[in-house]
Amino acid sequence: MTPVLEVEDLTVSYGAVRALDGAALTVARGETVGVVGESGSGKSTLGSAVGGLLPRSARIDGGTVRIDGADVHRLRPKELRTVRRERLGFVFQEPIGSLDPTMRVGKQMALVLGSRDGVLEHLARVRLTDPERVARSYPHQLSGGMAQRVAIAMAMASSPDILVADEPTAALDSQVREDVLNVIFTLAAEAGTTILWLSHDLPAVAKRCSHVVVMYGGRVVESGAAAPVLAQPRHPYTAALVRAVPAAASDGQRLEPIPGQPPVLTGASAGCAFSPRCLQALETCGTHRPPLVSVDERDVLCHLAGAGR
Ligand code: SF4
Ligand code: MG
Repeated sequence: MTPVLEVEDLTVSYGAVRALDGAALTVARGETVGVVGESGSGKSTLGSAVGGLLPRSARIDGGTVRIDGADVHRLRPKELRTVRRERLGFVFQEPIGSLDPTMRVGKQMALVLGSRDGVLEHLARVRLTDPERVARSYPHQLSGGMAQRVAIAMAMASSPDILVADEPTAALDSQVREDVLNVIFTLAAEAGTTILWLSHDLPAVAKRCSHVVVMYGGRVVESGAAAPVLAQPRHPYTAALVRAVPAAASDGQRLEPIPGQPPVLTGASAGCAFSPRCLQALETCGTHRPPLVSVDERDVLCHLAGAGR
């Protein structure tokens, strides 16, 4: 079956800064994928590129994004708008950004749905307790959690093939966060929507996602089924991320922040972008880009991965 999403060798720059440096990933229909990595790893750029939503300042230097086989960046503007409207949904960190501040929520929902019918139903499906009141409100009259539910209702209205959720709960407090994630994952499961969830929250990804994609230096460095990858990482960066999570500390292990800073690339990285911070780096790591190795039910971009540690 054609993968719902296929990203190949995608390279994207903002001026002199390279945000994606040959990112690759394949997602099958219905998977729930957590995309993790530190700030600056390229997660948001990848999410935007998937929807043909890159800002004007971004330049695609190479590679492809295919949604159900169609190359997103080769579509005509009109075709791209149709793909975005019918096959893709987006939820961002700031719900207010996806809502029109000058229009009542009900009217915005009606525009998305193409009719007034179903507005209250869609608001009820995201578990807003008083859909009628919400429909009469302007976005600024809603709490952050309510506004995010409205944004989710809009994003899921067309039962999209793929929902890109870029840190949708980062601005919410922890109880609301769980509720909002429950809504996203429940609606997506009902609609058969594939989720691409860009997140900093490793334990939440481990709990909710079928798959995980780990990004570093604008590349996907490890990807596969979430449980084995996060339980037994094969890439040194994934291992470092897992050790840096508070959940590891609560099991009696020490919390170890990753020393050093993520790179800011101004061109293709010569070798492995993680080599300055990697405790296992070999001499070749600084000069040769690591190959993609399939091992233990996952793909790993590391010189050590094939060596059978
Ligand atoms: Fe470390 Fe080398 Fe693997 Fe990069 S390729 S993660 S530097 S061992
Ligand atoms: Mg981001």
